[in-house]
Amino acid sequence: MKTKMKNGSKSKFASYRKVLEAKAEEVRRSMSAQKAAQVVARLDCPSDEGDLSQQHHEEWIFLNRNTIDIKLLRQIADALQRIDHGAYGTCMECEEPISTKRLDAVPWARYCVTCQEKIADRISHGETVDEYQEAR
Ligand SMILES: [Zn+2]
Repeated sequence: MKTKMKNGSKSKFASYRKVLEAKAEEVRRSMSAQKAAQVVARLDCPSDEGDLSQQHHEEWIFLNRNTIDIKLLRQIADALQRIDHGAYGTCMECEEPISTKRLDAVPWARYCVTCQEKIADRISHGETVDEYQEAR
């Protein structure tokens, strides 16, 4: 009997790859072109003045939602790349391993809880850009 190869980090994170791919698919589906068409159609024929602020509000929510989705897709793509490169599950800030509990909750997490909190704090103080904030 041959000696079994040691489980590398690639197979260790195989389940996360599946989760990430499924999530990406879900996000892509939720960002349907149909929704975008609806917003555009509403912009083309504003009903009356009173409705306008409500419309703008809905539009803002839509655009904001899509921005989050795009960000999330990018973070998922990054995470998949890190699995390929064997860098997955390691905090990009302090290089400590990210806890399994955290990866289960946020499979595209780039930072450990401690670093993510530090970054969130820096964002709230305007010291860094929102780009480092985690998408949800
Ligand atoms: Zn860290």
